[in-house]
Amino acid sequence: MNNRLLEVLKQSLEAQGITGLPRDWFAHQQVQEQFVTGETSAMNQNNMEQVGKSTGASAQLVSSDLRYGQTLSELNTEAQQCTRCRLCETRNKVVFGVGNTKSPKICFVGEGPGADEDQQGEPFVGRAGRLLTAAITKGIGIAREEVYICNVVKCRPPENRAPLPDEVEACRPFLERQIALIKPEVIITLGSPAFVTLTGNKTGITKVRGTWLEWQGIPLMPTFHPAYLLRNPPAKKPFWEDLKTVMLRLGIPINAQSI
Ligand code: SF4
Repeated sequence: MNNRLLEVLKQSLEAQGITGLPRDWFAHQQVQEQFVTGETSAMNQNNMEQVGKSTGASAQLVSSDLRYGQTLSELNTEAQQCTRCRLCETRNKVVFGVGNTKSPKICFVGEGPGADEDQQGEPFVGRAGRLLTAAITKGIGIAREEVYICNVVKCRPPENRAPLPDEVEACRPFLERQIALIKPEVIITLGSPAFVTLTGNKTGITKVRGTWLEWQGIPLMPTFHPAYLLRNPPAKKPFWEDLKTVMLRLGIPINAQSI
């Protein structure tokens, strides 16, 4: 089906009040067609083979209608039942997000749930999560409950692999609606996938971190993922510098010297 026909079909559905089609619908459809025709890019081929091996499932999207929630609670309910991508087949719990939902100073956006998060249904509760919590409480000096924390994809990718492009696109409406509803003062993206998902900017995270960007008018600060800091402790220093830059902008006093 060509893009023109897809556009007409999309407009027709929306005219009938059927909304919730992914924003990047054409790309979503093209990915589906790639799966069906086998015309996959070399870049994605390895990842798709990995999915096939790890889930035993055919690498075809599970089609479902997403009705955007008018409230965060409705959106969460929708996510809990979501089967829009293959990650629903292997998850234990949908990890929607936690924290202050009423215009928090900061919304942290990570990549996706790991094993601990998948078991508990809460983002950033494993080793990397404990480091993030320490950065919030001891570094920034506020309670974890005062910020909002979520991920790009709400279900755990098997064996902690990176989410595939079509999984990110399938889940994108949840993330974008979620941030739009909570209205944070600043977004901090943790690691490259979150930054790329929200900005479309493909600059390497090492180069772009510490630089102010924006998403839909909200200031956005890209920095390292806490899991990277665990593997590479010297990166804590630039991470802390990035947090201090955010604190300065938010008028939060800088008392801690490091994390
Ligand atoms: Fe749905 Fe997102 Fe989970 Fe995929 S990762 S099943 S799009 S909630």
